[in-house]
Amino acid sequence: MSKFQILVVEDDAPIRNLITTTLKAHEYGFLATASGEGAVMEAASHNPDIILLDLGLPDIDGVEVIRRIREWSNVPIIVISARSEDSDKIDALDAGADDYLTKPFSVEELLARLRVTQRRLALMQNTISQEAVYENGQLRIDYAKRCAYLCGEEMRLTPIEYKLLCLLAQNTGKVLTHKFILQNVWGRSLESDVGSLRVFMATLRKKLEKAPGSPKYIQTHIGIGYRMLRIDREEG
Ligand code: CA
Repeated sequence: MSKFQILVVEDDAPIRNLITTTLKAHEYGFLATASGEGAVMEAASHNPDIILLDLGLPDIDGVEVIRRIREWSNVPIIVISARSEDSDKIDALDAGADDYLTKPFSVEELLARLRVTQRRLALMQNTISQEAVYENGQLRIDYAKRCAYLCGEEMRLTPIEYKLLCLLAQNTGKVLTHKFILQNVWGRSLESDVGSLRVFMATLRKKLEKAPGSPKYIQTHIGIGYRMLRIDREEG
């Protein structure tokens, strides 16, 4: 089997070296570049499995790099951002990034994000045709029947809660921004709608999570959005 290839885009040499050394130690293949133009070029010519992308680059902005790559590729992109402002991460996620890491990050955190993305990739490859049934932990969604089950019991969901659950399920492992969720569930995304999204998410969680205070299925990314986590069958 050929090695997993990761394209590392980072203009800060010590961080780039830290990442590539970590990848090497964990038997990932990698390519590295320090610029946005280089990133677009390497992505096109080498077709990497995952891209780790710094947002603050010397030539073109990381968000613009994502837009360009997304014109022709669905390769998972994990954004690495030194900027603490959430708006940059949100722009990157809206442009099509899959996940993000905030600097400074630990090597363990980087490896964990890579594993999440690899699982997501494997899942996507196994479900090329839209599967009729979704299973995750104790959650089961039968798309044809438009029903969701938890521990074998049918969940009593409102149409909006069901739509929310399906959207999160279909993007398991990926951080979805408020804007993305609003557009896909309500067909519009106004800043003022984020409040109602929170309310619907809270009622959905009450039905889905054993302990809504420490959710297992749906993770909150404060100020950004939500992510459905992949969990083992025994859990949940
Ligand atoms: Ca940088």
